[in-house]
Amino acid sequence: MTTTPTEDSTTAQHVPADLPARIQHFIDGEFVDSLDGDTFDVLDPVSNQTYLQAAAGKQADIDRAVAAARRAFDEGPWPHLLPRERNRILNRIADIVESRDSRLAELETFDSGLPITQALGQARRAAENFRFFADLIVAQIDDTYKVPGKQVNYVNRKPKGVAGLITPWNTPFMLESWKLAPALASGCTVVLKPAEFTPLSASLWADIFREAGVPDGVFNLVNGLGEEAGDALVKHDDVQLISFTGESSTGQLIFANAAPTLKGLSMELGGKSPAIVFADADLDAAIDSTVFGVFSLNGERCTAGSRILVERAVYDDFVTRYAERAENIRVGNPHDPETEVGALVHPEHYDKVTGYIEIGKQEGRLVAGGGRPEGLETGNYVRPTVFVDVPRTARIFQEEIFGPVVAITPFDSDEEALELANDVKYGLAAYVWTSDLERAHTLAQSIDAGMVWLNSHNVRDLRTPFGGVKASGLGHEGGYRSLDFYSDQQAVHISLAPVHTPKFGASNASTVGA
Ligand code: NAD
Repeated sequence: MTTTPTEDSTTAQHVPADLPARIQHFIDGEFVDSLDGDTFDVLDPVSNQTYLQAAAGKQADIDRAVAAARRAFDEGPWPHLLPRERNRILNRIADIVESRDSRLAELETFDSGLPITQALGQARRAAENFRFFADLIVAQIDDTYKVPGKQVNYVNRKPKGVAGLITPWNTPFMLESWKLAPALASGCTVVLKPAEFTPLSASLWADIFREAGVPDGVFNLVNGLGEEAGDALVKHDDVQLISFTGESSTGQLIFANAAPTLKGLSMELGGKSPAIVFADADLDAAIDSTVFGVFSLNGERCTAGSRILVERAVYDDFVTRYAERAENIRVGNPHDPETEVGALVHPEHYDKVTGYIEIGKQEGRLVAGGGRPEGLETGNYVRPTVFVDVPRTARIFQEEIFGPVVAITPFDSDEEALELANDVKYGLAAYVWTSDLERAHTLAQSIDAGMVWLNSHNVRDLRTPFGGVKASGLGHEGGYRSLDFYSDQQAVHISLAPVHTPKFGASNASTVGA
């Protein structure tokens, strides 16, 4: 296939060269079809046409992948390699990802509708995730405890076994790397089940891992629907862990389905994160940041600051300037480097987001966007949409939309700002804009959020905990916490002197049998 000529780069679709016509599973070092031969359609979000068929994995395919991962764990070298040996392989993976970043971004953009410049940034972050966990495992220390004259006790860290990794469709490749890197670094073997809307970039992992020297069976990939392939992975007896990123309602279901086999679970779920802007904030910086915070990645971002709470003294000014910026955002062909908001991932998601926009028209005052952009009559395009004066009871205030839609609400005091911030079921991220240090830290400590940024949008430090509270998740990954999740920490106790042991049954031993 060749690249479509681009007469008008804002609308003409770019089709990457050499697209595969079908995507298979990758099990035990081989590309394979589903055992029953079943496939599902994959659409691109600009034409909404099916451009490939992906193998639709079921229970039997998951069984096969888990068996391969189990064999590689029990009999293969991977869990026993020295940290330095795994570190070298992980760094090779990072090198290969970096060397293919433009191809990765091109495919990711085509499959997901993310703007190309942002997809490129995500490809580089994927490489960085591998480098980071490669560094961590060689620097890993474990605890030893001394009880003077009596005991030395130490922690024997061991990989947990087979990890099931289930990922969503927003920034697919990067989010897969966020799970693959620490799982492999820890010595686990894995079965990855990527999102069915966006399987294209995940299919590249197989060759990358092979080239980097990952032994067969360590990495296995099964495509398929969540309720089939994902469900079978969650319920499998021989899978010790599930790391899941996705919607809160799916997380709840997985939690219940994993209970009978008592799996370790890491749940990164939905969000409806507040950005609180005080009158004493640097308003220019706050506007740049809150515009980027909700409209980057097409608004399909778990940590999006999708509720902006603004102090009444600057509310009108903020709203006017914010709406103007939103109206000026360039929506268009995801492959165009000038594009700021591309096409939403899938027509089903487009219907969900535009449905919320219609609801918002009843609940708030529309000051920007509100539907499809002119001149983009097909494809999943939505104008950056701003609702103001949104009450806290509104659905667009309470529910995750996961698109380029923001709700703005005024407040009059620090107490009211905090109450509004916490008055939703989610608790993933929060952003606070103020020049008052005391207020910033006081608020940060009281907000129900796993992560808080003061005077910034989401800029990650990979060493810090990542995750949410309330309906936004369970367990925090990030840095050593991720390695802990994929490891067992066994306590080994060594006695240095004879141990006092109560002599049960010894006092009348001489009379026994007399
Ligand atoms: P989703 O829950 O629909 O699907 C996520 C994954 O789960 C997919 O691979 C899907 O096939 C699978 N799945 C679905 N049903 C399943 C089942 N019954 N058993 C096992 N697996 C199943 O989520 P989505 O629509 O793909 O992604 C968007 C959501 O992800 C949003 O809510 C967003 O906030 C969240 N998200 C959270 C984070 C975070 O770090 N907290 C990051 C990115 C996205």
